[in-house]
Amino acid sequence: MEKLDSLREYKEKRKFDKTPEPAGIVKSSAGKLIFVVQKHDASRLHYDFRLEIDGVLKSWAVPKGPSLNPKDKRLAVMTEDHPLDYADFEGVIPEGYGAGTVMVWDRGTVEGAGDPLDKGLEKGHMSFILKGKKLRGDWSLVQLKGRGDKNWLLMKKQDGFAGEEDVLVSKPDSVLSGKSLKDITGN
Ligand code: MN
Repeated sequence: MEKLDSLREYKEKRKFDKTPEPAGIVKSSAGKLIFVVQKHDASRLHYDFRLEIDGVLKSWAVPKGPSLNPKDKRLAVMTEDHPLDYADFEGVIPEGYGAGTVMVWDRGTVEGAGDPLDKGLEKGHMSFILKGKKLRGDWSLVQLKGRGDKNWLLMKKQDGFAGEEDVLVSKPDSVLSGKSLKDITGN
């Protein structure tokens, strides 16, 4: 029952006759679980980090964006679940909630390392392997304080894909279209 209602907040926040964002339908990937990172030039630029769990994209807003450096702990604030179709959304939200330009900055598959993702989410400690074009290897998301807290930390684990390269600067453009934020915005 909870599953069916998991996109309620997503739908309540949006007017689908005004926004090009996809409507909310709970469904799972046909194959492997997916992840997406969307660069979102809203009132303040941030990166939305989304992992497929239970037929939706569990979502965190990461103000500073992901880092390949295991020393960096990036604040990730949990936001409302998004529909799976959102992973393909790139464009301009004209007005209202989230107004601004959205880019598919990275996309790929995700698998739980150790615990399955849904169990890690419940425990507030998720370890997973990303296979994207920019983000790869072992990562973790750890909830601060206790259950119900919206603040998590996104961290790269030490492995062959870790490093000091600032991937936000070296690879700024869309993996979907190759476009820059400016190209997507259209000015
Ligand atoms: Mn956002």
